[in-house]
Amino acid sequence: MTEQETSRLSEARRICDTLLEPNAERVDRSGQVPRENLEALAAAGLADGTFGSDAFRRAFVELLCAACGTTYFILTQHLGSCGQIASSSNTALRERFLAEMIMGKHYVGVGFGHLRRPQPMLRATPVPGGWLLSGVAPWVTGWPTLSATIYGAHLPDGRHIYLYVPAREDKHQQVSTPLPLCAMGATETVEATLTDLFVPTSDWVRDGSPEQLAASDTANLCSNVAPMLGVTRGSIALLRQLATKKPFPVLSQAADALQTELEQCRERCFTLSGSDKSAPEWREHALQARTWAIELGVRAAHTGVAAASGGANSLDHPAQRRMREAMFYTLFQQTSEILQGTVTRLARLS
Ligand SMILES: Cc1cc2nc3c(=O)[nH]c(=O)nc-3n(C[C@H](O)[C@H](O)[C@H](O)COP(=O)(O)OP(=O)(O)OC[C@H]3O[C@@H](n4cnc5c(N)ncnc54)[C@H](O)[C@@H]3O)c2cc1C
Repeated sequence: MTEQETSRLSEARRICDTLLEPNAERVDRSGQVPRENLEALAAAGLADGTFGSDAFRRAFVELLCAACGTTYFILTQHLGSCGQIASSSNTALRERFLAEMIMGKHYVGVGFGHLRRPQPMLRATPVPGGWLLSGVAPWVTGWPTLSATIYGAHLPDGRHIYLYVPAREDKHQQVSTPLPLCAMGATETVEATLTDLFVPTSDWVRDGSPEQLAASDTANLCSNVAPMLGVTRGSIALLRQLATKKPFPVLSQAADALQTELEQCRERCFTLSGSDKSAPEWREHALQARTWAIELGVRAAHTGVAAASGGANSLDHPAQRRMREAMFYTLFQQTSEILQGTVTRLARLS
């Protein structure tokens, strides 16, 4: 990491320790997007999705997820959108929005996870001057904070298209009330229904295809594990706190063992991420590494619950929040391959 990255990471750690983590249970229960957290991160230059190396981004996500899953999950949509707009060949779109986006003054969400589903959910029909979007985007996170959303849709020929759409409710774009969720309820995630919504060619972000999406999912098989590593890290910190209050040596032994496993899992995932993806055994190894991170995150959170006893079941306790967040990271960016790999591992089928 560069000096600038190290310094931004220290600032992120300070914000996590003083603002995000101390308020995480309150935020989780509030049902509302924690705007003060997003503002503090943006003021420190941390809403800039175009900044930093892969190593910096992974470390940043791990810190956020150890502190407050809600804040991470809202911010991550925006960081992804910054990357999409920054790399778009639509330079006019970039010039219109990117500068405000990276300052955290113009939040852009995403609605394209549904492109992985077997049946098209959202269709884009070419018309003079642009496209008409119709259908349902089942998940759009952070709606009240959004100035716009990048929707992914199917074209009539089966290819994908990604379009920038202002976050305005009218007869063409309607959103549900925030979905009642077991975890991440404060992200105010909604379902958006689009009906003949006209998107001008000036708001085109990029083209894509099912093959490109599948290839990117494969390439990222064991890259997107930082949330699981973060929840593990948070659970280890909780175990260490509990070890100072309860007379059971097993608590610090568990923290030490999980810390060693966390380091091994991180090393394995990131070494594989940077290695030759065309090697015949790479895909199987990468899937194993991904499911290891998933299983580790849930197991570490469950260890925190066991160590915290009955108090863990209080909605004010970090142990239960981490357990629910670990459950959520099990599903986030899930593909059919990850679904099957996770079930195989958890049910000990191989
Ligand atoms: C709280 C929450 C917020 C989210 N926010 C966003 C957001 O802001 N933006 C966004 O784009 N996404 C968002 N997502 C989507 C998230 O990334 C998805 O959960 C993830 O991609 C899994 O998809 P799914 O839940 O739609 O599950 P599924 O539809 O079950 O898909 C999971 C995998 O299984 C495969 N599959 C499922 N059923 C079948 C079948 N019958 N035949 C063959 N294959 C099948 C799918 O193709 C896919 O690969 C959010 C999800 C949650 C839970």
